[in-house]
Amino acid sequence: MSNKLVIYNTLTRKKELFEPLNPPFVGMYVCGPTVYSDVHLGNCRTFVSFDLIYRYLLHLKYKVRYVRNITDAGHLEGDRDEGDDKFSKKARLEQVEPMEIVQRYTIGFHDVMNLFNTLPPSIEPTATGHIAEQIEMIKEIIENGFAYEKNGTVYFDVEKYSKDHNYTILTNRNLEELLANTRDLGGQDEKHGRLDFALWIKAKSEHIMRWPSPWGWGFPGWHIECSAMSSKYLGETFDIHGGGMDLAATHHTNEIAQSQACNHSQPAKYWMHTNMLTVNGARMSKSAGNGFLPHELFTGSHPLLSRGFSPMTVRFFMLQAHYRSTLDFSNEALEASDKGFKRLMAAYGLLGKLKTSERSEVDVAAIRERCYDAMNDDFNSPIAIAELFEAVRIINSIYDGKTAATAQDVAALKSLMDDFVFDILGLKEEHAQTEDISHIMDFIIQLRHEAKLSKDYVTSDKIRNGLQALGIQLKDGKEGTTWTKA
Ligand code: AMP
Ligand code: ZN
Repeated sequence: MSNKLVIYNTLTRKKELFEPLNPPFVGMYVCGPTVYSDVHLGNCRTFVSFDLIYRYLLHLKYKVRYVRNITDAGHLEGDRDEGDDKFSKKARLEQVEPMEIVQRYTIGFHDVMNLFNTLPPSIEPTATGHIAEQIEMIKEIIENGFAYEKNGTVYFDVEKYSKDHNYTILTNRNLEELLANTRDLGGQDEKHGRLDFALWIKAKSEHIMRWPSPWGWGFPGWHIECSAMSSKYLGETFDIHGGGMDLAATHHTNEIAQSQACNHSQPAKYWMHTNMLTVNGARMSKSAGNGFLPHELFTGSHPLLSRGFSPMTVRFFMLQAHYRSTLDFSNEALEASDKGFKRLMAAYGLLGKLKTSERSEVDVAAIRERCYDAMNDDFNSPIAIAELFEAVRIINSIYDGKTAATAQDVAALKSLMDDFVFDILGLKEEHAQTEDISHIMDFIIQLRHEAKLSKDYVTSDKIRNGLQALGIQLKDGKEGTTWTKA
């Protein structure tokens, strides 16, 4: 196990040696998606970044409990505890149960995560499955004097908390300035202070998702779910808490306040934040309407794209930027990543065809060392990838007979690629898979064609529908029948 891993900690604003609280165990909590609509590519970038982090910790032989929640209740449209509940609103519009919305988008999220080859978390708890834990935590915060109830809604008292705690510890914002920039409370407002936020919200009569509580029927605020679920599964203080950078100022700031007010402890030792995926410099988000859906990329149906790009090309594109840098999305950048990914895979394919000799002109151990140095430096995947391209250059040169390498060198190159390309970066060969079934598909298409010729439409429809159920779409055209994988 490496003891050289260094992580940038948002809390201390510096890189720190990674020293888990209870090695070899590591607890990692990442804020998951709000499942009232499809995840966009920006969301995916954050989850792919944490997948890289998870994979590297596993590679270093840590025993990681990775908890990534599903927000399926309590997320209001406004940032300040106002507006509609996103799930209820969508359910009302579509005339379905809110839980049907949750189910649909949770399945969609898992499908997309699978396509990107991310490992599933160890636990994926939902907000609605942990109402009792959230209520218990709110009761404790009230008892400790940091929250108050008003007409069935419970608010966190930020002013009181700030008297002996640093509320903006995570972002280092100036509290006075923050207050000055926050809207005045309206005359009707129940809150005592402008920065107070809801822990529990009284359900209006039309609100379907509601639970009984000591304060009447209602539903939890968004921030409390992560505090309740992280402490339940990882303890009151655990190793890593992560999410997108946009969550630091409010969601994570409030999580820290809740944990301190309830448990008198910092929830996490290391806070990690991923930077944003942007389009023409603007953050990709659902509300800005510039969110690309993953399938628009895979099929190339988005107007900004000239063609479709495979999930592994997109994953490679994401990993070519450091997780704390912004990453701007463009057709050109994807084209370049596609080329790079194919070069990497082609070199891997050559490994079995290399001629070896007694002489060695390569130093694979040095490349491996530099790959570790890059990953140990706050998971610097772009530098690790640059080193892997040095390995690609060497493989091609051995293949061309320009560089001499021993059988051990070639074995070391294979093990380097296996560890870093597949295990740590989480890439996989996908083009080969498509080719693998093409001759089977030709055969099935021929069978269907023959069925149609003999007017056996029952069989031809059965073949088409059966393939569709397996995620394979047939398209009949002038040139014959073609197929695509969903
Ligand atoms: P949400 O479903 O909106 O709660 O977001 C799920 C995760 O995606 C959170 O960790 C967000 O911080 C993250 N996220 C949202 N937009 C982007 C973006 N444009 N780039 C990277 N991560 C994002
Ligand atoms: Zn969260």
